[in-house]
Amino acid sequence: MGMGSALQWIGVVVWGVGAGSFERREKMAKMEVKTSLLDDMIGVGDMVLLEPLNEDSFINNLKKRFDHNEVYTYIGSVVISINPYRSLPIYTPEKVEEYRNRNFYELSPHMIRANQVTHSVNVELVLECWLTDHGENVIFFYVNLKIKGELIISFALSDEAYRSLRDQDKDQCILITGESGAGKTEASKLVMSYVAAVCGKGAEVNQVKEQLLQSNPVLEAFGNAKTVRNDNSSRFGKYMDIEFDFKGDPLGGVISNYLLEKSRVVKQPRGERNFHIFYQILSGASEEFLCKLKLERDFSRYNYLGLDSAKVNGVDDAANFRTVRNAMQIVGFMDDETQSVFEVVAAVLKLGNIEFKPESRANGLDESKIKDKNELKEICELTGIDQSVLERAFSFRTVEAKQEKVSTTLNVAQAYYARDALAKNLYSRLFSWLVTRINESIKAQTKVRKKVMGVLDIYGFEIFEDNSFEQFIINYCNEKLQQIFIELTLKEEQEEYIREGIEWTNIEYFNNAIICDLIENNQTGILAMLDEECLRPGTVTDDTFLEKLNQVCATHQHFESRMSKCSRFLNDTSLPHSCFRIQHYAGKVMYQVEGFVDKNNDLLYRDLSQAMWKANHSLIKALFPEGNPAKINLKRPPTAGSQFKASVATLMKNLQTKNPNYIRCIKPNDKKAAHIFNEALVCHQIRYLGLLENVRVRRAGYAFRQAYEPCLERYKMLCTQTWPHWRGPARAGVEVLFEELGIPEEEFSFGRSKIFIRNPRTARKLLRELKH
Ligand code: ATP
Ligand code: MG
Repeated sequence: MGMGSALQWIGVVVWGVGAGSFERREKMAKMEVKTSLLDDMIGVGDMVLLEPLNEDSFINNLKKRFDHNEVYTYIGSVVISINPYRSLPIYTPEKVEEYRNRNFYELSPHMIRANQVTHSVNVELVLECWLTDHGENVIFFYVNLKIKGELIISFALSDEAYRSLRDQDKDQCILITGESGAGKTEASKLVMSYVAAVCGKGAEVNQVKEQLLQSNPVLEAFGNAKTVRNDNSSRFGKYMDIEFDFKGDPLGGVISNYLLEKSRVVKQPRGERNFHIFYQILSGASEEFLCKLKLERDFSRYNYLGLDSAKVNGVDDAANFRTVRNAMQIVGFMDDETQSVFEVVAAVLKLGNIEFKPESRANGLDESKIKDKNELKEICELTGIDQSVLERAFSFRTVEAKQEKVSTTLNVAQAYYARDALAKNLYSRLFSWLVTRINESIKAQTKVRKKVMGVLDIYGFEIFEDNSFEQFIINYCNEKLQQIFIELTLKEEQEEYIREGIEWTNIEYFNNAIICDLIENNQTGILAMLDEECLRPGTVTDDTFLEKLNQVCATHQHFESRMSKCSRFLNDTSLPHSCFRIQHYAGKVMYQVEGFVDKNNDLLYRDLSQAMWKANHSLIKALFPEGNPAKINLKRPPTAGSQFKASVATLMKNLQTKNPNYIRCIKPNDKKAAHIFNEALVCHQIRYLGLLENVRVRRAGYAFRQAYEPCLERYKMLCTQTWPHWRGPARAGVEVLFEELGIPEEEFSFGRSKIFIRNPRTARKLLRELKH
């Protein structure tokens, strides 16, 4: 099962509702009464049912639900999730049992809802379609994403999702979006645990599940950090495909990672921390292990660990270290691999303690000298790097052009730059290596046909006081995700009505394609101009980049800066000369241009990569393949920006081949606190997420649609004129059929190729008739 045509789907609908016995219908009627009473108290579970619909009622409904611990609400097929900032007793086995044994229309929305289907068959990832009554008028199709008869995710589904149903063989993806701290990572973990809890049994399958789950603590330790917005903020993007076989057993997975915020390794904004792993290792490792790694327990010994907030309330770094080591073991890291990983972590931490002092030479040049070589010596002992080679790489820079080699000395600033570049590269390459290594362990071992469920958890939209290249990249990625949401839920829906010639009043929404273009256009986009500037010969600075932006973007309605004379913002003193501002879909963000060119270039002096490649340490050697003198490549590596743009494009393409399921996460307050629902903050988020428009499009639309041929085939037996054969065009057949059934004219519309039914009740009536 699992494959099939639209007709089969309707069959499932009949089974879901039409087949109901009298008692069942009775029960549904009782439920309706109960539901409406509940709605007054705790709000409606699906915003499509909200009366009246406006911004105030929308927020009020969310608030009512939030106050009653109902953190999930639907908009048709989209789930809104509000971060409760405390653990709610809604993920317990008891709760799962409760969901299992009741009809699902009795239950409030949940992101992960247990199966309530009475007779479940072992099916592969399957979308199941239900019709259910919600109050007076509306019946919805519900789509249940199921594995082996167990529900993974349940969504109320209106018309446009129905289209994707026709192709049930489509892989699924769950797109989790929302700003930093809104609860995306937690949601993605809940989805994964649920998948693990309900599918597959047996030792082999259990091992796959364990490994998939345990990849989380490893990646979080190395890729998450405390920021002012979130104590466990993802500083990398993650997309994970979970693969299933035809029985619905998990086979394995593949993780893709996106641009780690590596600048954090060497410097953190005030009130923030470096990546968790540094604190975990210092707090949790045994004396003996620390000694082996030549580390000291005291955080304050290390320049790379910000002094501000070394301890985070409620976070036990030591316990987390044990969790991470255990997870690494389960994922399949060998002891010597784990050892190597921690040696690299220790080396990075110790690099920050190498300091330089100026030394004037007789020839008038400023040279830098390492202040105290002890740290350097220990790093080299730890990693098998030749001390003299590393020392030289911190003092000279060699530029090779064709046959020539030219060495120049580094001054103190350049030496610090080289040191930090090395630390950032070591760490970010280690992170990518970890992902590759985890993938090796969790990849599917067989070549059988797979079904895939993708889960995307990427850093959320960020507005800080100082925003730099990293925020620019993160926010660009969020623009792209918003764009695909618009494409799939707002634009396509409305365009189909127009294509089909159905009368339709357009619902206005803000399309952020224009902002995506400002950033990624191949000729005039900000990323293209940054690349052009980085590749240009001559003196390139962040200011020359900003000047260039001014020439090209000054008139773009989402771009603001004060540099050019014709700027509309000449008198805007809130906008410093060293900044540009973008009006993103989620708000205005001012970017400090300092560091853009450098971070985009992402240069590592060749002397350093060669020193790493020469290390007597197989992991470090593997991280710097370009350091192999035999493989010298004079071509520039791609810039950080262009690499990111390419990987985001690949991701978007991948997502578009799958059936999207949305979880829109909302942050209820800026205090990371439970019970506080800041209406203004929530209002801002629902506005930029376009959630109200989302409801409007769904409500104004037609609940059910079907091409004429299959519609006639399915229902022709209900009409004497069309049964058993109809010899005319299918559309005329459907017209006759609807007339004979006495379906009121205002209930449906004839499109070019499809019949559109406004009220889902009509659709149900058809199905009931069919049943009798
Ligand atoms: P970022 O973009 O910074 O990575 P995020 O959207 O991934 O942010 P999370 O890390 O998932 O945010 O959530 C932030 C914090 O909020 C969590 O560490 C947890 O304390 C709390 N939280 C989120 N979701 C839930 C939930 N469902 N139940 C209880 N607490 C939650
Ligand atoms: Mg996160």
